[in-house]
Amino acid sequence: MTATHCPYCALQCAMDVAPADPGVTPTVTPLEFPTNRGRLCQKGWTSAEVLTTPDRLTSPLVRRDGELVPTDWDTALTLVADTLLRLRAEHGPESVAVFGGGGLTNEKAYTLGKFARVGLATPNIDYNGRFCMSSAAAGGRRAFGLDRGLPFPLADLDGAGAILLVGSNPAETMPPFCTHLSGAQEAGGLIVVDPRRTPTAALTGDGRGLHLSPLPGTDLVLLLGLTQILWTEGLVDRDYLAERVNGVDELRASLAAWWPERVERVTGVPVTQLRAAARMLAEASPARGGRGTYVLTGRGAEQHAHGTDTVTAAVNLALCLGLPGRVGSGYGCLTGQGNGQGGREHGLKADQLPGYRSIADPAARAHVAAVWGVDPDSLPGPGKPAVALFESLASPGGPRAMLIHGANPVVSLPDVLRLTERLGDLDLLVVSDFVLSETAALADVVLPVTQWAEETGTMTNLEGRLLLRARATLPPVGVRTELEVWSELAERLGSPVEFSADPAVVFDELARASAGGVADYAGFSHQRLRDGDALYWPCPAPDHPGTPRVFLDRFETSDGRAVLHPVDQTPPDDELTPELPLYLVTGRVLQHYQSGAQTRRVPTLNSVEPEAYVELHPLLAQRLGVAAGDKVAVHSRRGSCEAVARLTEGIRHDTVFMPFHYPDAGAVNRVTNAATDPISGMPELKVAAVRLTRIGAA
Ligand code: SF4
Repeated sequence: MTATHCPYCALQCAMDVAPADPGVTPTVTPLEFPTNRGRLCQKGWTSAEVLTTPDRLTSPLVRRDGELVPTDWDTALTLVADTLLRLRAEHGPESVAVFGGGGLTNEKAYTLGKFARVGLATPNIDYNGRFCMSSAAAGGRRAFGLDRGLPFPLADLDGAGAILLVGSNPAETMPPFCTHLSGAQEAGGLIVVDPRRTPTAALTGDGRGLHLSPLPGTDLVLLLGLTQILWTEGLVDRDYLAERVNGVDELRASLAAWWPERVERVTGVPVTQLRAAARMLAEASPARGGRGTYVLTGRGAEQHAHGTDTVTAAVNLALCLGLPGRVGSGYGCLTGQGNGQGGREHGLKADQLPGYRSIADPAARAHVAAVWGVDPDSLPGPGKPAVALFESLASPGGPRAMLIHGANPVVSLPDVLRLTERLGDLDLLVVSDFVLSETAALADVVLPVTQWAEETGTMTNLEGRLLLRARATLPPVGVRTELEVWSELAERLGSPVEFSADPAVVFDELARASAGGVADYAGFSHQRLRDGDALYWPCPAPDHPGTPRVFLDRFETSDGRAVLHPVDQTPPDDELTPELPLYLVTGRVLQHYQSGAQTRRVPTLNSVEPEAYVELHPLLAQRLGVAAGDKVAVHSRRGSCEAVARLTEGIRHDTVFMPFHYPDAGAVNRVTNAATDPISGMPELKVAAVRLTRIGAA
């Protein structure tokens, strides 16, 4: 048995993987761990099935006469290196772009960031975590000077008297998380903000809390309204604000226009519910001697063209209640991807270096360059966020080659047909994957790589806790780790420094590169994790116990005080019109993860949710002449997709929902909007104006 962690979401549930003969699917059993408490969701229980998927790639593929054909590693890597060297000589280093994934281990995230900036000398790197938590990261940094998904242990939620969950559906995305909501449920204080009656929203039933169902794109206004009620009813924590927070007067003035009746008109949430929610949050808060209150945000708050402002409105609410930096209360963001947190800490993001340092900061560049053994002036500056990066591909002066690792953008990008249409015009598209994903199928070179249980690496979960995901089984013959791929490519490209393929060696370098940064890993090592520690950053020394709770004494701002930023209503980028009269929201289902490249290959999961569906209210269906099971088309300003109609009373009459795990005609991202947040670069995946037409009976 090998103790390790699930390959999927940021809860990083602990599990044992039993040894198995080559080609035989290992058995998975859950382990006790503070995040999952001996539980796994259906994805976790079946996670070993992806190790033995029949369509596993075991040799590189290169495109010849339009077809991908098997070849050997030397031929594939020679083709990649020669083409990159030619492009660099002819068009400069910016002619190469790199796109990573939030499921890559810390070692891989760190090495890919270094490989792009040193091995390729290009600024053009970003990752799919841009679509995951970038708005919360930006909102957290501007309020607290630091972004750590949850700045407290998950188990702290257990004792809360009230929890406000904005735009998150953990009952499907990370079910074991919901054990941490039971305290608030018992106190009748679980408040879920979602336009749908999701399984999470249903947890508020029977007096266990409130479900607020706002019009899509109006969560920001709802949060302004709740905060204004706190002020008008004398429920804010004035002592805390005076002691720990700047910008109070400006915030208060900015809220004046958001009286509850106006908020009801904009959001559709009744004043009675707004007042009840604000009072529940205040009653449980420390200022009133309550059990504790938490405000938590997810993708529903973030994936908007003004997602940073929506998160800021949630942070403002939490600060007015006096929550952040107090034991037993707080604000946090629920990261989705397995290593979405670690990816942005170690340099996958266009504007960041390891240690969560800004790539534009001269001191940060000097520190990281010294660890890497290069001249700081040789490091490129900030690159473009994901949407802009894909828009620039094969454009005049834009990248002519792209390397994709741990991502499937052909399914997951917004406005996906437009943003990926120029992948075919590149001189070289290289995709590393363990199967022929939808993106790999378009590549010029496909490199077959190891997957989760076949390699050792660390992950940083949604709490900022570092875990060792240990190798539990041998990979099939013919595949390599991505660390081996980058090490070999760097050598062939004449990199000024070597790249180790040993994850423990890479981790030690990562720890040195992060030392002194806000996400300080200097005290961590693989050995320490093997010895049983699973510790929170910052951890600046080997004898440091890690930091489960941050902000207890001060925030990471220049004066140690948090900052309230006034924000205001901004309507969705897509306007409803008579031709496009409905809002579309997107999300996940229990059985699938992200683009579905892994979970669609697990028969147990795929048999439950095999195809794209669109959820709509029976009254809307009647108006459109649609019956349950009919095939319908969903049209927006970008394009159309197809899905099977599912009728439910748990959704607003003006809103439809689609999951985003499916490719081809079922890809909802053919319809979604790529308008981005000017601060975070997050696209507006969560709201689009659409119409439905019936295609026919299924
Ligand atoms: Fe746990 Fe998430 Fe894996 Fe489910 S998918 S078992 S919640 S880590």
